[in-house]
This record gives sequence, structure tokens and C-alpha cells, in this order.
Amino acid sequence: MNSTSIQVPFLVIGSGISGLVFALRAAELGDVIIVTKDAPDEAATSYAQGGIAAALGAMDNPEKHFADTLEAGAGLCDEGAVSILVNEGVSRVKELIELGMQFTRSQDGALHLGKEGGHGMNRVVHAHDHTGRAIEKFLLQQAAENPRIQLLSGQMAIDLITEHHFKPQQLSRNCYGCYILNESTGEITPILADFVILASGGAGRVYPHTTNPPVSTGDGVAMAFRAGCRARNMEFFQFHPTALFSSADPAFLITEALRGFGAKLITSDGNSFMEKYDDRLELAPRDIVARAIDSELKIHGTECVYLDVSHKDSEQIKTEFPLIYNTLKEKFGIDMTTEPIPVVPAAHYMCGGISTNYEGRTDLNFLYAIGETASTGVHGGNRLASNSLAEGLVFAHRAFEDIQVRMKNSEQRLKQSSYEKIPAWDKGGAANLAEWVLVSHDLKEIRNIMWDYVGIMRSKLRLQRALRRIDLVYEEVIDFYNRTTPTREILELRNLALIAQIIIRSALSRKESRGLHFMQDYPETREPSREDTILEPLMFKQRFGG
Ligand SMILES: Cc1cc2nc3c(=O)[nH]c(=O)nc-3n(C[C@H](O)[C@H](O)[C@H](O)COP(=O)(O)OP(=O)(O)OC[C@H]3O[C@@H](n4cnc5c(N)ncnc54)[C@H](O)[C@@H]3O)c2cc1C
Repeated sequence: MNSTSIQVPFLVIGSGISGLVFALRAAELGDVIIVTKDAPDEAATSYAQGGIAAALGAMDNPEKHFADTLEAGAGLCDEGAVSILVNEGVSRVKELIELGMQFTRSQDGALHLGKEGGHGMNRVVHAHDHTGRAIEKFLLQQAAENPRIQLLSGQMAIDLITEHHFKPQQLSRNCYGCYILNESTGEITPILADFVILASGGAGRVYPHTTNPPVSTGDGVAMAFRAGCRARNMEFFQFHPTALFSSADPAFLITEALRGFGAKLITSDGNSFMEKYDDRLELAPRDIVARAIDSELKIHGTECVYLDVSHKDSEQIKTEFPLIYNTLKEKFGIDMTTEPIPVVPAAHYMCGGISTNYEGRTDLNFLYAIGETASTGVHGGNRLASNSLAEGLVFAHRAFEDIQVRMKNSEQRLKQSSYEKIPAWDKGGAANLAEWVLVSHDLKEIRNIMWDYVGIMRSKLRLQRALRRIDLVYEEVIDFYNRTTPTREILELRNLALIAQIIIRSALSRKESRGLHFMQDYPETREPSREDTILEPLMFKQRFGG
């Protein structure tokens, strides 16, 4: 083993719900290092408003949750994965409550269950309208109190370590750890681990208008793809229909729960329009609402539509949606109790990801992927609202259970003898900041191409045009990356360029319209219904840009 490397049983990349839940369980078995590239709580999890879907209501059951998830997923959900989600989700949420997590309750003390688009029942467990923030705070507190968990912030995972790094001619089969950049010192250390868990979240930053925080740059999918894992169903990117229309970055989300509460969508002349698009009106699944808004914007030539809740009791609005009410009032000067809120769709959730099995195993031995970075098959062609926090909880737990069995069988010992062969990071060239200014334009270009050509409505012509341009940008970025010392900016740019390519290639290969993927050339949904888009990993040279 090289002298500066660190060795640990568990390396978790990411400190959102999935990484933290896994770490808390894994600490029962050994030491855990969590690396996270920003502040510990800077994760999409902290931004979640609506809540966690779980069939806990008296009139509800997992079968109904299952049916709603399948309906939203447009015939592409993996039914086995969904069945796991809806059944095990109930126990996982109860465990969280037993651990001490406080959710909003009704006056009679029962859990208050919200309703969101696509759900036939009130089923969303929440902490007012800042559920994610409350969960993140709670889990971080639990992790801080656990002596076996070390959380290293400001540390960015660059590339997974596989056979490629010490036996370049051999096909990579195992994951040995990851090269980690310390953002303040610029030092790069290999952290070797028996089990590596990618919990690095989504990739909303590939679009310019997004609800996702700056950390959501698709690093997990990009790293896994470079290392030899397949990416699945990456063409399905969910656009949340109702982000606040403003210049705020990330876009401020107006939770779906507000529509569940009775908010109406209207155009600038005050007319409702959802009745033209779907019988479920404002509570139709997100893809339908987002397309309806997109189409109204085109019909009226306007930049936004409005969400109006001013007909509801103002005190109730303030009590049930304190985060939204206060943020709109204080930051944007909008009083939602008396005036409509301007909204537009924004990129929100990556439904595809690194292909995994039901235990979170990827194509590389000893590498797991959980949460938004993974594709378990749960979301199919469109995620049902509030199913993603649930997915993080459930599949983090399943990964832990799988690893527990493998550790009993000492499977990890097989690869430990190779640790000594793992080289230190190859330092590469010196950063040229003058050139960086040129490359930073590539980021804007990637995001604009994605918005203009790979957004809510797609066509073959637009996608082909997007791919030609992205391929060029990708080459420039890799050329710069190969000649420079890694920084977070260049690493994120490299990952976003690859994610853009993966999304476009996936979109081009699906010759139909389904769920979130709407192709003007192929407006119909094709049979057979369950056909995943699988993108095979790149060849070595392309992967590492060498
Ligand atoms: C505004 C908003 C509202 C939402 N509302 C809901 C909701 O109500 N219900 C619901 O179910 N879902 C909701 N979602 C989606 C949900 O929040 C996310 O899907 C979920 O939190 C993802 O959890 P995660 O653990 O997979 O990733 P995240 O919570 O995004 O955490 C990823 C972590 O990985 C770290 N990371 C990333 N790359 C690297 C790297 N290279 N090296 C080191 N660390 C890295 C990040 O810093 C972060 O700590 C919402 C999302 C947003 C943005």
C-alpha cells in the first residue's frame, strides 16, 4: 500500500440521506469514513420540502402505493424494486421515528400525512414543509455522536480505484477505494476500503434552471461509468413543474404539497388550464403538469404561469407551509396568501443512474450505489413524488444487510492483498488559470445545450445537434483536464460533460415517448413496455481521458 493512503472498512461518498443512513448502520460492523465535497449538510436532501412517501394511513396500504408508483413510472418500473420500496419503506420510516426523528402530527397525535401529485391517498410523512432539512439535521447529529463515523467535509471523490490503476491491461472487476481531493490543500489521497458506497446524489446542475444545489453534478454516475459500470435510463430527467420564476440559483421549489392543499395553476390572464390536459388537474403526475405548463408558455408567449392559493385560509397556509410563506415574503416580496406565485418548470430529479440490483450492488465488485445516483428500477419513466427520500432510506438499509452477510463470509479479504499495489495519484500538469477562463465557458455551453435541446420536449434533430456540440466540448474539457492539476471546478466540469453525453445518448436510443421522455418524432409509447436503456461503460482510454 502506498504510504500516504488510508484504509477503512467502509468508504461512503456523500452525506445526504442515503449516505448517512448507510453509515449509521455500517458503524455497527466497523469504522466508516464519509467524504463529502462541501459542508456536511449541503445535499439535495436538505432541500426536500414535501416529505417521504410511506403507506402509513389507516385507509392506505403498500399495494395502493405500489399501484400509484407503477402508474407514474409509465410502464417502466421494475416491479420487484417497487415492491421492496413500498413494503420496506413503512418499516424504515417507523424506525426513523423510533430513533427520535420528529415528523408533523395532527391534533390527535397521529402522523399528519400530506397528499402529492400521482398519489391516490394522503401518504406523505413530513416535517411541515422543510422535511429534508429536518431529516438531514437529525441524521448528521446521529452520525456526529457515533465514534465509528468520521465525516470529512470539503473532500471530493475524483475517481474510483480499480484494476485499471495497477494492472492497466486487465479488465476492471473490483473496486478498491477512491482518490480523494482535499479541496483546501489540493492534496489527493487514495482511501482504500473493503466496501465503497456511492451516495453522491443527482445531476440537476447539468441544466441551467434547476432546483438542485451546486453539489448535484452527477459525480457518482460519471465516476462509476468511467470505472466500468453501466448507466441505466438516464434519458428520464424529471422537471419539477413549479419552481419559483426568479433568478435565484438553485431555483426555489414550490412543493407539490401546495397543489395537494388546493393551489390552482393559472395563466397570466387568470384562467386555469389543467382541465385541458388531465382529469386529475393539478394533481396529475409531474411529467404531465410540466408539459402542460411548457405548452401554455408556448401558446401565450409568456415566461411563467402562476400558482394561486390565495383562496385558502391565510392562517392555515402560514401554519402548513412556513418555509415557503416566509421565503417568498422575505426574499422575493411575494405574499402567497393574497397573490399568485409565478412558477416555471426546472430540472429536479435524475430518475436513471448507475445500474444496481436490489441490494445496491453495481457492476464492480465491492462498489455499491444508493439514493439518487443509483438506478434500482423504482422510478421507471417518471418518479412518483416523495419516493426518493424513501428510496434512499430503503436501499441504504438493503446495501448494509447485503454487506453484513458478505463480511461474515470475509469476501473482502480476497482483494486486500492488492492494496499494496495501488499507486499514489499521478500529479499531472500544472494548472493554467488563463486557460481555465476559456474552459469555464464550456460549463455554460453544456447547460444551455441541455436546456435548449434536451429539455421537456425533445426531437431527433435537436438531440443530434446537442450530441455533436457536447462531444466537442467534452474533448476540450478532457484535454484541459489531462494537462492540469485537479480542482473541484474542473472535476465537476469533466463529470457534467460526461453526464450530458450519457443523457443525450440515452435519449437518442429511446425511439418512443414515455413518461418524462417526450419525443416529437415518436409521440407514441411503444410495446413491450419494459425496456431499459442501458449504456455500456467507456473503453479505458476514453474513460480516464488518457
Ligand atoms: C428542492 C428539492 C426538493 C425535493 N423534495 C423532495 C421531497 O419532498 N421528497 C422526496 O422524496 N424527494 C425530494 N427531493 C429529492 C430528494 O431530496 C433527493 O433525491 C434525495 O435527497 C437524494 O439523496 P441522496 O442521499 O441520494 O443525495 P444527496 O442528498 O444529494 O447527497 C449527495 C451527497 O454527495 C456529496 N457529493 C456529491 N459528489 C461528491 C463527490 N464527488 N465527492 C464527495 N461528495 C460528493 C454531496 O455533497 C452530498 O453530500 C427534492 C429535491 C430537491 C432538490
